Amino acid sequence: MSNHVKVCYQIKDEPGVYGMQAFTYQTDLPLRVGDVVIAPTRYGDRVARVHQTNVPDGEIDIRWELKTIEKYFAPETENLCDTCIYEFADCSGNPTFGAGKGLDNVLSCTKYEKGDR
Ligand code: SF4
Repeated sequence: MSNHVKVCYQIKDEPGVYGMQAFTYQTDLPLRVGDVVIAPTRYGDRVARVHQTNVPDGEIDIRWELKTIEKYFAPETENLCDTCIYEFADCSGNPTFGAGKGLDNVLSCTKYEKGDR
């Protein structure tokens, strides 16, 4: 079931710093407040942090076509698999690899689910 979330974009060239304005997206990911994701925009993908989940229909700006968030994002020095409930060896993820930790850290993935490891 699709969910509506609001996200704040990361400030350009300031990893971990996010703007105050929130933008609405739809997603099938089980996102939680604070998750960092890749948010498509008309100008390309942006890193963004989830500000609100389960946005009520009345709060959705219908002037724009809603875009869909499909991937989580991890900074280059982190590995999404480290906090995922699945095991990399037998998961059905669709990871994008990065440039950290031996060039094999997972930066984004469509199947990531945050767990408490
Ligand atoms: S689902 Fe994605 S994030 Fe989770 S272990 Fe598999 S590749 Fe890593």
